[in-house]
Amino acid sequence: MSKTSKTTKYLHQQLGLSVIDSHSHYLSYKTFQSWQVDSKAIQRRIRTRTDMTSVDQPGPDEDFAQKWVTELDRYGIARIGMMVGPESWDEFADALKRFPNRFYGYANINPLLPEAEDQARHVIRELGFHGYKLYPVLHGFYTHSKEAYRIYQIADDLKVPVLHHFGISVGAGVDLRYGNPLDLQPPARDFPDVKFGIAHLGAGMFRETLLLFYQTDNVYVDTSGSNIWMRYIPYPSDLEGVMKRTLEAGGPKRIVFGTDSSMFPRGFRYDILEKQLKIFQRLKVTMEDLKQLFSDNIQRLMRKH
Ligand SMILES: [Zn+2]
Repeated sequence: MSKTSKTTKYLHQQLGLSVIDSHSHYLSYKTFQSWQVDSKAIQRRIRTRTDMTSVDQPGPDEDFAQKWVTELDRYGIARIGMMVGPESWDEFADALKRFPNRFYGYANINPLLPEAEDQARHVIRELGFHGYKLYPVLHGFYTHSKEAYRIYQIADDLKVPVLHHFGISVGAGVDLRYGNPLDLQPPARDFPDVKFGIAHLGAGMFRETLLLFYQTDNVYVDTSGSNIWMRYIPYPSDLEGVMKRTLEAGGPKRIVFGTDSSMFPRGFRYDILEKQLKIFQRLKVTMEDLKQLFSDNIQRLMRKH
């Protein structure tokens, strides 16, 4: 105890708060390969669409899972939820085994693929993943479509959550017409036992996201990312105001903390953790509720029951 308290360096440690980051990305060597674009194009897109200035691409022989665990240890983060593309599923399944309780795995599923149902079962049953990530704007489908419903049925059977990216996206070639979180209301109604997540507070579709708090009982949000979308909404906003409204509309049990950490050298985004934690403190969120936001809620969502 005394040793820890003397060496605590980070705000969450000073508060005695255990932190799980619910939303980050496992972008391995194989992921970069799968993008099939040259590294200059990647660097350009990173510079113009994010607040990063450069990225390190993982090497083919690098122990990338170990790199992430070292990063978590550096910042005192208990566990991290990773979005993982099909090209890295096997590698990540190995990481789940090698580092128990340090990762949660969300498998990126494209419901339009003919093999989507087989994939959805395989990643949970054989590979040990914990949930699905669906990306309507990237893959071009509605969440009230029959293709998406097939995945929700499997999520219902296997008792795993489904996280969604609606709203604006850094991904190349997205179609924003599929980006409305209101499309989640019919499946949330039809699968009342499935937990439906909305990443980045709706990434610009903030009004729609808040309305779903009223209309559903099984939709939650994550706070991940820089929330750059606030620049593009038609009313003045800042993160403190956004968090305040989210807490008022959804309450602390329907919000999970996330950073959207993705690439090195930036690594784990402690700046986002610190910023959000300070905001919640200014909003006088109690210690009990902070525990919900920063670890208990995501543990509850990920527990297969
Ligand atoms: Zn993300």
